[in-house]
Amino acid sequence: MIMEAITCDNPNNNSRYPLAGRNNLKSKSIFNVNGVKIGGTEIVVMAGPCAVESQEQLLATARSVMKSGAAILRGGAFKPRTSPYSFQGLGQKGLELLAEARLDTGLPIVSEVMDTRQVELVSQYADILQVGSRNMQNFPLLAEVGKSKKPVLLKRGMMATIDEYLFAAEYLLNQGNEQVILCERGIRTFETSTRNTLDLSAIPVLKKLSHLPVFADPSHGTGHRWLVPDMAKAAIAVGADGLLVEVHNNPEEALCDGSQSLHPEEFEKMMADIGRIAEAIGRAIFTKESILS
Ligand code: PEP
Ligand code: MN
Repeated sequence: MIMEAITCDNPNNNSRYPLAGRNNLKSKSIFNVNGVKIGGTEIVVMAGPCAVESQEQLLATARSVMKSGAAILRGGAFKPRTSPYSFQGLGQKGLELLAEARLDTGLPIVSEVMDTRQVELVSQYADILQVGSRNMQNFPLLAEVGKSKKPVLLKRGMMATIDEYLFAAEYLLNQGNEQVILCERGIRTFETSTRNTLDLSAIPVLKKLSHLPVFADPSHGTGHRWLVPDMAKAAIAVGADGLLVEVHNNPEEALCDGSQSLHPEEFEKMMADIGRIAEAIGRAIFTKESILS
């Protein structure tokens, strides 16, 4: 069978992606994670270190991102590292520290799950399960995470087309899990001046094809801290519903992704700057006050 080309204007998108595609019943998914509304008019910022390293590092970073207006705390306890000799994460201890930071700051937490055998454990601690780029097409993992019914942050595979990405989302949704967030995190291209090429056009394309909230990760999307605020602004300008940003209280000493992690003061400035972009397009950044209203 010859597959039809997938374009935004193809009326068959609804039957191709029965659950992830936009259809008459669902034009936009909005859901609530511990009081944080995802997919609405307000833009949700998830921020924190790449990896949980210690209680001191996590609490200092968590408190600073909370003060600057982040709505959700990120931190990896199980890290998908390219080299087996790199820091692999603190595992369960890291999850315990994240739970402590949630208690301290009131921020819900998002953390990566890499393996079907970790789904139960990570679900006990995290409010949102992250499926990383390298696992976007790990179908048994998607099925298990789908069954967990926890909200999921599904990152785009670094070599995945949008078609493949939406099918990966279908694997989560067809287990009955309706709370799926998409996240463009950069794709591999011939370009070497950035770690990945942040595919900004994927954001409006995904929003046109799907009702799911679409986030952007300018940290992995660029690999360089100096580029993160500009690409964050650009992502908001093209319609991202939220951001995933790496922040570290001392990035020079970070055990993972320090060169793309913002200093707390840089994050504070970025939050003010994206607020202005949001306002210009009739949106706002989700804040704690949004929970009360
Ligand atoms: C991360 O968010 O820390 C991460 C490993 O991202 P990705 O899966 O996009 O590489
Ligand atoms: Mn990282």
